[in-house]
Amino acid sequence: MYDLIFDPGHGGRDPGAVGPTRYEKDLSLTLAKQTATILVESGKYNVRFTRDIDKDFCGYYFNVETDLINRVDIANEMRGSVFVSFHINSANREAHGNEVYAWQPGSRAEKLAKAINARMAAQLDMVDRGVKFANWYVCRKTHMPACLVEYGFIKSEEDVIIAKMDQAALSVAQGIADYFGVILTLEAEEEDVLENAILMFSDEDYWSAKDVSAKDGGIAIFVRQGKDKTIPIDAMKAKQLITIGGPETGHTNEILLSGKDKYKTADAVRNYLNR
Ligand SMILES: [Zn+2]
Repeated sequence: MYDLIFDPGHGGRDPGAVGPTRYEKDLSLTLAKQTATILVESGKYNVRFTRDIDKDFCGYYFNVETDLINRVDIANEMRGSVFVSFHINSANREAHGNEVYAWQPGSRAEKLAKAINARMAAQLDMVDRGVKFANWYVCRKTHMPACLVEYGFIKSEEDVIIAKMDQAALSVAQGIADYFGVILTLEAEEEDVLENAILMFSDEDYWSAKDVSAKDGGIAIFVRQGKDKTIPIDAMKAKQLITIGGPETGHTNEILLSGKDKYKTADAVRNYLNR
């Protein structure tokens, strides 16, 4: 297990940069949490946060220096394999894109920053501002390889930042995994696809469909819905669609079956299934 310390930038009385509708402190928390979820679900990472709620690190009086000192103290006490601080950028002029900071070149922190930046550059379709070096307190004073991610510019591209949040979290997660030389395998979200489904035109076909389903072991039955006779989406996703009572749906693997009466219809479907 790799032990990661995530630091969502700002928080509490410090909103960070202010966008048209959001604060940096909230977006940085969302990005950090979503990134953590992906990594934790892979089963190879532990993530602990300097903050996982909207708070700052000061007592009665807020002051940025105290906030950073206390934040870094907490991170150093927790001790992790790496430290990642999450931020949303701001600039006075129109600016766009992502950049990842490390304190010094030639460090493990630079390797981490490069790994994260490479994924963001390749996968987000946003401006790539590359890896940069700066004397950020959270990068300099943490006792582990540390980098600071600046995801987008809140004033110029808040809408993009929000829209691409899932993808950004995935990019950062994969970048961190790359740093450790681990391929991040995501749980494939296998959709439940039906082998067979019977689609009825109306409830009048229900007897036939139910008869087949009962005798043939639980085949899903669907009926076209409403005045428009809309076809339920799960029916269209089935590998084989048996349409009784017509008309054709356009399903790529569809068979139209019917009989003179409900018994004959049921027989036709059963014969087809047992062919
Ligand atoms: Zn910030």
